[in-house]
Amino acid sequence: MTTVPGTSPQQESQKPLVMDGNALRDLIVEQIGARVAAAGNPHICLATVLIGEDGPSQTYVRNKHKFAAKAGLVSRNETMPANCTQSEAEALVASLAADPSVHGILVQQPLPSHLNNDAVLALLPADKDVDGLTAESLGRLVRGEPGLVPCTPLGVLRLLEHYGIATAGKHAVIVGRSTLVGTPLAILLSRKGVDATATIAHSRTSNLAELCRSADIVIGASGQAGMIGKDHCKPGATLIDVGISRTEKGIVGDIDFEAVQNIAGAITPMPGGTGPMTIACLLENTLTAAALQGVKIS
Ligand code: NDP
Repeated sequence: MTTVPGTSPQQESQKPLVMDGNALRDLIVEQIGARVAAAGNPHICLATVLIGEDGPSQTYVRNKHKFAAKAGLVSRNETMPANCTQSEAEALVASLAADPSVHGILVQQPLPSHLNNDAVLALLPADKDVDGLTAESLGRLVRGEPGLVPCTPLGVLRLLEHYGIATAGKHAVIVGRSTLVGTPLAILLSRKGVDATATIAHSRTSNLAELCRSADIVIGASGQAGMIGKDHCKPGATLIDVGISRTEKGIVGDIDFEAVQNIAGAITPMPGGTGPMTIACLLENTLTAAALQGVKIS
């Protein structure tokens, strides 16, 4: 057994299970590749729309294409300059929506501020909406109808499933109420079959630490660096970090990883936890989108 300086073997054995999003992403990419190959390598295409030159967005899109290729999917990257007009952005998305050779469309967020994001998203057919962000996709999610679910919340669910974290009858607190992460995640966690009791917290929630301490699963999706610490964690709780903050120390999450080391039962690293899972679930959604459009995949 290796000993970490400053810890006794007993303390070391209390370290939480680290839920490795990179490893699970690689496994899911491999499984998607196998399903595509077993179906005779049908043409399945993911198109991304990147408007402007935002550095992190360029990196995210590059990674999405890299892993799409590994999964045996075709991918297209459509770019537009930051100063494009609303009608140019809408024309591009409408052309992809009408193109039968494109199965999934992802409009990389955020769009430059002069563009109307909702008007652009409204052009996505729900069956091609691999980010699951349109009103129709979110409506299907709420109604429990087949459809495409936002990738980051789906990635959280896949991590819980893969690492055998019990959800039925458990209390999950999600810190953050956005339509991108917090709200769809609460719906997914409280669905039949997953059966958690989900509480959504936000910036106006009273006694946040106490609320989180009552939870079996805490998901940080606020973007506030290190705001979830030992006061928010009951012994053995599962902590999932979605938040991303770029600091002088590099990328950090909402969870103070070091502070909860001897308390949490399982934890995701940041980076290397939910981020890779977002990509894996984008590819899973692309396969689902292709199936919704009639491509035969078992
Ligand atoms: P938003 O800014 O839309 O939402 C943040 C939420 O956090 C809001 O509901 C806000 O409450 C809440 N919040 C902010 N401060 C506090 C606080 N002090 N206490 C409690 N709640 C608080 O962000 P997103 O949902 O789009 O993203 C959340 C984070 O996840 C970001 O850091 C983002 O970068 C990251 N992210 C990570 C992904 C991944 O793959 N890991 C993918 C997508 C996003 P209120 O509504 O009251 O303002």
